[in-house]
Amino acid sequence: AQLDVETSVNKYPIHILENIRHQFNQYVSKDYSAIFIVTDERVANLYLEDVKESLASHPKVFHTVIPAGEQSKSIEAYYQLQTQAIEYGLDRQSLIIALGGGVVGDLAGFVAATFMRGIDYIQAPTTILAHDSSVGGKVAINHALGKNLIGNFYPPVAVIYDIQTLQSLPAKEIRSGYAEIVKEALIADKELFEDVMQEKLNQVTNASLRDHIFRGIKIKTHFVQEDEKEKGIRAFLNFGHTLGHALESEYGYGTLTHGEAVAIGMLFAMDVSNAVFSNCLPVETLRKWLNLNSYPLVLDEINSEKLLSRMKSDKKVSNNHVQMVLLKEIGNPVLVELNDEDIQKHLENFINKMM
Ligand code: NAD
Ligand code: ZN
Repeated sequence: AQLDVETSVNKYPIHILENIRHQFNQYVSKDYSAIFIVTDERVANLYLEDVKESLASHPKVFHTVIPAGEQSKSIEAYYQLQTQAIEYGLDRQSLIIALGGGVVGDLAGFVAATFMRGIDYIQAPTTILAHDSSVGGKVAINHALGKNLIGNFYPPVAVIYDIQTLQSLPAKEIRSGYAEIVKEALIADKELFEDVMQEKLNQVTNASLRDHIFRGIKIKTHFVQEDEKEKGIRAFLNFGHTLGHALESEYGYGTLTHGEAVAIGMLFAMDVSNAVFSNCLPVETLRKWLNLNSYPLVLDEINSEKLLSRMKSDKKVSNNHVQMVLLKEIGNPVLVELNDEDIQKHLENFINKMM
């Protein structure tokens, strides 16, 4: 299966195939002066040898292994990768391959975006969540004062997605990635939403997984192509993220995965949508599905004031108003500005219902 994404600077293919990690040589040009694979320690143990083997005919292939986890999206890790790239003799004709989840993709992508003013890179996602992060060209590292504050829009030259690698994901990471598929479904594809709601995540087959990921990426590419730099409709992809981001930072990255936080954020956004548009989105269907699949939904010491102030420190806030993506119906998102009082009221309502 292949999709193409057209951007202002290039057009790149997304190849989604089982066991494609053994075939990198078919997708990577022989002309690159050197190839630098960036991966994390978990992914390295599982898949690095396969990728290196498939590139064995290339004379110069280097790799580096970063610690797994969000803390690697740091200025220190970034600087270390730049140092290694220089020491390995990479030049402007070299290629970086980001082999891993969203952390590796965001970090290695940002290294590629800035090394010698920008070199080619390939996204090779190995998590379900990275179906989202590997497409669309957003690359970033974190600042101590906030997530993803240092970054750029810098599209890869290709996305090479081996669905087989998803078999080794722990349950928590499957939940995390699926939340983003549900998000894409809710903003654009009712049928996908209904299909996913039929799925028990600990029994999901490779075939369903590939189908859901393919349809999710298709939605993502649609919004990204229409609005590469997020001036308009790309913002719909932030559905569930207003409260999601606030929860992530409130509970500390690591307690809740990104997708688990977004899942709660989507319930909230649906709840607010129902109140604002007096409609009846299937909040209960989603809640049941999330429960059935062991998403953590009940949170200790949750506090609406703290969450509101977290929401307001997000980089998507405009003139001090929180913007939320709401749904008029499934597949029909709108961006709405809400004042503090209303948000607080909705939050308290939501918290009462959840506990
Ligand atoms: P991650 O990269 O930390 O991966 C999650 C965990 O799974 C890690 O411990 C990793 O080592 C492990 N792992 C990866 N692949 C595996 C495999 N095949 N088998 C077993 N274990 C595996 O996290 P993530 O959830 O993939 O990505 C989260 C990051 O993505 C966040 O930093 C977030 O900001 C970013 N993100 C970026 C965008 C974007 O548009 N650029 C969009 C969404 C999220
Ligand atoms: Zn997200």
